[in-house]
Amino acid sequence: MSLTDYKGVIVFVEQRDNEIQNVSLELIGKASKLAAELETIVTAVLLGHQNEQHGQLLISYGADKALIIDDQKLAMYSTEPYTQALTQVINDKKPEIVLFGATSIGRDLAPRVSARLQTGLTADCTSLEISDEKGLLMTRPAFGGNIMATIVSPDHRPQMSTVRPGVMAKLERDDSRTGQVEKYDVKFEENNCYVEILSFEKAEKEKVDIQDADILISGGRGMGSKENLNLLHNLADEISGTVSASRALVDAGWVEHDRQVGQTGKTVRPNLYMACGISGAIQHLAGMEESELIIAINKDANAPIFEVADLGIVGDVHKILPLVTERIKKINQSKHIEE
Ligand SMILES: Cc1cc2nc3c(=O)[nH]c(=O)nc-3n(C[C@H](O)[C@H](O)[C@H](O)COP(=O)(O)OP(=O)(O)OC[C@H]3O[C@@H](n4cnc5c(N)ncnc54)[C@H](O)[C@@H]3O)c2cc1C
Repeated sequence: MSLTDYKGVIVFVEQRDNEIQNVSLELIGKASKLAAELETIVTAVLLGHQNEQHGQLLISYGADKALIIDDQKLAMYSTEPYTQALTQVINDKKPEIVLFGATSIGRDLAPRVSARLQTGLTADCTSLEISDEKGLLMTRPAFGGNIMATIVSPDHRPQMSTVRPGVMAKLERDDSRTGQVEKYDVKFEENNCYVEILSFEKAEKEKVDIQDADILISGGRGMGSKENLNLLHNLADEISGTVSASRALVDAGWVEHDRQVGQTGKTVRPNLYMACGISGAIQHLAGMEESELIIAINKDANAPIFEVADLGIVGDVHKILPLVTERIKKINQSKHIEE
């Protein structure tokens, strides 16, 4: 079989508790753009149990076709049954591209599937493009984020990559979109299902998810101390924002890791990202430069954060943040009075 016989883009759709994860919808959006350039279709492959009702949602977000695999063994993620099921789909459909979210599930599943298919896998891509030769250009940070490497798979199909949540933008949901929803059966080799799930203990739900926030007030080493982070929280409270941070504050133990923005943290694209005392290292920028509006406060006028900022304030965060908070508080109070 020649490379050109492989056709179509497959997105592995991740579900948890039978809820479709955002990253998969983001990938369907990206896949539909890649497929348009390749003049082919996007197939969203959903593995789970009692999941047929999700087919139309996947179409509404840009898939041309939804393959629904419904089996008790797939209700909860488990490496072996998922690997077997997805490998069968790919062997049968022979897509040229397969995309996964770079989540704990995607990172476990994608390498196993790629090994069984004897093809390559590029993890944590930040950009996916189609080359002049119609191959997939998979770009990701390399050497500690100091360079961006573009990786191709010239000799093997499918071309596979994982993409972290928040990197690609979802398409607008369009319930009038039509597509084919198809049930698909797979066979399991029971002996290979190494892990039997006896029970499932859910971790306490994260209090905040910075990827869902419209406004992020983000602090860096320039905040000076853990106590000073109150300045961020005070401002966030006034404008219904959420506090996030650079890795420097996470490493210092001042902020939990789930609030870290950047290459080894989360990728965010809020309407407003306010960087306070953050220098703008490339690994930090990788996680926030797609934000709608970026305001930076830094006492060093040459700080790299100003290169991506829409609005820059050169000054001391300890003086500027209380002033901004006070001003917004007054505006909020006067709004209350008017109401
Ligand atoms: C493989 C790898 C992965 C990484 N992943 C991430 C990641 O996911 N996220 C991340 O953030 N980093 C990451 N880093 C670390 C990154 O390289 C930087 O070290 C880090 O982002 C720096 O954090 P910072 O900007 O808070 O601190 P600094 O770089 O120390 O900057 C502090 C800034 O505050 C300013 N400042 C100081 N005092 C004040 C004041 N009073 N008022 C105003 N401004 C002031 C300074 O001028 C300076 O610009 C990674 C590094 C590596 C090697």
